[in-house]
Amino acid sequence: MDVRSFSFARLCALLLACWPTLVCAGELRIGVLAWFGDQTAATQWQRLGAALQARLPDTMVQMAYHDMDGLEKALAAGELDFIITNPGHYVVLESRHRATRIATQKIEPDRDSEHAVGSAVIVPSERSDLQTLDDLRGKRIAATVPDGFSGWLTVWAELKRRDIDPEREEVTPVFAGLPMSRVLDKLESGEVDAGILRVCLLEHLVRQGRLPAGRYRVLSPQEPDAPCLRSTPTYPGWAFAAAVQTPDALARATLVALLLLDGRGDVLRWGVPADYHPVHAMLRDLQVDPYDFLREHRLEAQIRRYWPIGAGLLVLLLLWLFYTLRVEVLVQRRTRELSAALAARDEIEERMQTQREKMEHLSRLSVLGELSGTLAHELNQPLATIGNYARSLTRRMWTGKLSDDAVAQAAHEIAEQAERAAGILEGIRNFARKRASERKDCDAVKLVDEIVTLFRGMLPRAPEIHIEDRLPDEHRRVCVDRLQIQQVLLNLMKNAFDAHCAIGRAGEPIEILLAPAGERTKITVRDHGPGLADADGARLFEPFFTTKPDGMGLGLSICKGIVEAHAGQLAAAPPDDGHGLCLSFTLPCAATPHHDAT
Ligand code: ADP
Repeated sequence: MDVRSFSFARLCALLLACWPTLVCAGELRIGVLAWFGDQTAATQWQRLGAALQARLPDTMVQMAYHDMDGLEKALAAGELDFIITNPGHYVVLESRHRATRIATQKIEPDRDSEHAVGSAVIVPSERSDLQTLDDLRGKRIAATVPDGFSGWLTVWAELKRRDIDPEREEVTPVFAGLPMSRVLDKLESGEVDAGILRVCLLEHLVRQGRLPAGRYRVLSPQEPDAPCLRSTPTYPGWAFAAAVQTPDALARATLVALLLLDGRGDVLRWGVPADYHPVHAMLRDLQVDPYDFLREHRLEAQIRRYWPIGAGLLVLLLLWLFYTLRVEVLVQRRTRELSAALAARDEIEERMQTQREKMEHLSRLSVLGELSGTLAHELNQPLATIGNYARSLTRRMWTGKLSDDAVAQAAHEIAEQAERAAGILEGIRNFARKRASERKDCDAVKLVDEIVTLFRGMLPRAPEIHIEDRLPDEHRRVCVDRLQIQQVLLNLMKNAFDAHCAIGRAGEPIEILLAPAGERTKITVRDHGPGLADADGARLFEPFFTTKPDGMGLGLSICKGIVEAHAGQLAAAPPDDGHGLCLSFTLPCAATPHHDAT
C-alpha cells in the first residue's frame, strides 16, 4: 500500500478501533466561546456535542458557553477539559493557562462562517480616493469590538505594517458593536469612511441579495482571484484545546473523535492543529493581550536602564534649585543691606551737604564781617555827599540863588550817590544770601570782575587789583556755582590783603591771572606779602589753622572743598619772581561756547 495514500483519518479510525480502552468513561466538559450569547452559541455548537457524544458513547459530553472572561475563569477553575475559541483568545489562554490545541477548525474557503478568520476592509465603491489600505490614513473606520480577531485586531496589525498607527491617531476606529451589520449601518450613514467585515461576509450578503453587488469594494485584496476577498493575511482557524489537567488518554480519544467527524458544517470540520505562531507574532506586534506586558515592560525597562541618569539629573535639579533659592535669599538680603547702606549714605551726604552750605554761608558772612568793619565808613561817603547836596540846595533856596541848573546837577549827583550805595548793599546782600548750590555756564572774567568790584567797594582804601586775562575763547566760559567761586576769590583776595597789611604795605596791588590749564581754566591770585613759612605750607588747608590773632582758620579749607567739588585743585606756591604767594585753582570749562547775560 502506498503510504501517502493512507489518509490521516483512516489511521485515526484504525487507532480508535484498536484502542477502545483509551476512551475513558466519565465526563467530557467542553467550554465554547459564545460571541452572540449562550442561545446562539448553543444552536451553532450542539451538533458538535452530539457528534462527539456519538463517537464517545462511554463519556458524557457536556457543552458550556461563555464569553471571553467567563471561558477563561472556567478554564482557570478547572471546570473544563477542553475549550473551543478563536485564534486570538486561544493564544491568550495558551500563554496564561497552558491550554494546548489538539485540533484547528477548517472553514471552506468560499463560505461565510461565524468562525472564518481574516478580515475585509470595505469602502463604498464610489470612493475613488480610497484604493488601498494606505489611503485610510486620517480616515474613520468602523469595526465591531476592539478585541474582535476577525475584525479590528487583524486590520490594526495590517495598518501598523503600513505605518498607519491608530495610537498616533493616524486612523480613527469607530466601534459599532455586534452584530456585524452595525458596521454596514455606519458605512451607510456616512459616519465612517471604511468598515471591517469578517472574510466572506460581503460576498455572502451579496449572494443572498441583502446587498447590491458592487455597492462596496474590498481594499488591498491579498488574493484577488480568491472566491472571498480579504485585506489581511490568512490566520489559523478556531482552536480546540485541552486544559492543562486534561488526561492524555481523554485528549487522544477526543482528538481521534474530532478528526473522524464527517458531517456537513463548520462545527464538524476539524483538522490537525495549525501553527499559531503568526497569531502570536501579530498580537506581540500590537502589544495587546497576552503581550500587553510589553508596554509596561518597555517603560519598566527604560526606567531600570536610565534610573541612575534620572536620579542624577533629579539630584542636580534639586541642587540647582537649592542653589538658586539660596542665591535668591542672599541677593535679597544683600540688596536690603545695600539699600539700607545707600539710604544711610544718602542721608549722611545730605546732612553733610547742608552742613557744608551752612559753613560756606557762615564763612561768607565771616569774610563780609571782617571786610565790612569799614563798611559804615564806605557807605558814609555817598550819604555825606547826598547830605551836602541837599544842604547846598536849601541854602541856595534861602539866599535866592537857586537856579534850575544847580537843582538838576544836585539831583543828578544825589541819584548817582544813592545808586552807588544801593549797589554796594545789593552786592553784599547777594553774596550773603543763603541758597542751595547750583552750577551754570558763565564768563570767567565777568565773574572775577564782579567780585573784585564788591571787594574794592567794601574797603575804604582798597588796593589796586590787576586782572590779566590770557584766556582763549574756548576757556572763557566755565561751568560753576558762581557764588561759590566768588567766595573762593573773595577769600583769596582778603588773605592777600591781610598778607600785605602784615608787612605794613596795605596799598600793594593784588594780581589776578586767568589762563588755560589743559582743558580747564586756571585762576591765580598773587600777592606780595611775606609768603609762607615751610611748616605752615603743610597745614595751610587744614580747618582751624590760622596765624592771625582774630582769624578762624576756616577760609582756605572751605575754599579747597568748593574747588574740589568742581573737580579742581587749590594749591599754594611761591611766585617765580620776588616775594609773596600764589594761590591757584582750576575750573571746568563749559561744554559748548555760548553767550549769556552774565
Ligand atoms: P584765616 O584767614 O581766618 O586765618 P584762612 O584759612 O583763610 O583763615 O587762612 C589760614 C592761614 O593761612 C592764615 O592764617 C595765614 O597764616 C595763611 N595764609 C593764607 N593766605 C596767605 C597769604 N596770601 N600769605 C601768607 N599766608 C597766608
